[in-house]
Amino acid sequence: MAACFIDAHCHLFNFEDVPFYATLRRKVKPIDTLGMLAASLGIVNVDRFKTFIMFFEQPVQANLGELLVDIRKAVPERELLLTPLVMDFFTVNPQTKPVDLQVSHLREGITRCRDLCSGDRVLPFLGYDLRRLKDGTVADFIRYWENSGGVTSAERRRGPEMLQNGDAIGIKLYPPIGFNPDPSKERDPEVRMRYLEFYRWCIAHQVPLTVHCQYSSYSMHNGDRIRYYTHPVNWQKLLRRPGFGSLRLNLAHAGGWEDLVAWQGTGKNLAAENATGRPGYASGTWVPVVISLLKTYPNAYADLSAFNFASRSACSALRKLLEYDERGRYGNGFPLRKKLLWGSDVPMVIAAGSYKERGKPSYRNLYERFAGTVLGSPIENPEEALADMTENNPLKFLFPPEEEPGSLSS
Ligand SMILES: [Zn+2]
Repeated sequence: MAACFIDAHCHLFNFEDVPFYATLRRKVKPIDTLGMLAASLGIVNVDRFKTFIMFFEQPVQANLGELLVDIRKAVPERELLLTPLVMDFFTVNPQTKPVDLQVSHLREGITRCRDLCSGDRVLPFLGYDLRRLKDGTVADFIRYWENSGGVTSAERRRGPEMLQNGDAIGIKLYPPIGFNPDPSKERDPEVRMRYLEFYRWCIAHQVPLTVHCQYSSYSMHNGDRIRYYTHPVNWQKLLRRPGFGSLRLNLAHAGGWEDLVAWQGTGKNLAAENATGRPGYASGTWVPVVISLLKTYPNAYADLSAFNFASRSACSALRKLLEYDERGRYGNGFPLRKKLLWGSDVPMVIAAGSYKERGKPSYRNLYERFAGTVLGSPIENPEEALADMTENNPLKFLFPPEEEPGSLSS
């Protein structure tokens, strides 16, 4: 198949899936992610956030259709591959639609969308709260996977052309809501075994995991707790276990743009703002761990979704990251340009400055800021780096190359 343009991080939930208005009005306790986001955006001027709010009002097929049209304005005449991520928030907010129903709602919306061209693919990632393994088993998870269109067959997982729209190909984990993905942190030995069994299943079937990983996260826990659950060091501990190094992992947000800026010493120290920040999880400590994972493990990737391309210091930090890596500053291992993935985080970015073009939301604007940052990097052949991040790297993350040796489980 010709290389297609891949957005490895977007969402297609609407108010039927997450209680948006209720959370806006603070009627739902505990406040969930969207409520915190709304609060942090300071939604007072509803008009300013019209498009963001309307995304939650519209049916899935309408949002998907508009997103496809918007992406085509950014990258005309390309086949598109989207992997909408479903969030499993049910255990923290029972007013959220149960995740299996969210998945069927999404798959139905994909089927109804009339704006998909023949080569386009929309292949969901299923939301999963690991704490389900406390009361349930991995067999329960596999049932959920199979009943939700999850594809395990190695032959069909070889590439997008083998799959149908709506087929689920990966799993989304969101640790900030209250679980540590590192099995060694789990006290109950039985549950710890189930965590490990879950990851072994992902490895055996080469099923990719996209995991939320950035300094600033939204949850109902306090900042310390959230960072303890979300810090990439948890994934480092998992990948270091013998047999787990080949896990297909996308560290979403790559530790966070604020952390990248703080780490390079060009930005404020976020932990200093928040005196409760534990030193071990302080700002400036996330990106170095993410880099080490990308450079060490063959199937570890990181997406640049929700990156603040409206911030000069953030864009400069990203360019420096690519430049310094090429110069060997981060040591041997896989080049970072082969490990970064393009992702937008639509709709969460719709109200962000980097998504706006003369005050109007525009995917093209966000994408062009990203492309401009990569193309403006003082690295060799930046055009190739851009093509890698939008086509080749995500293809490798999502679909195991056939020639990949089976002995990578270091
Ligand atoms: Zn997201």
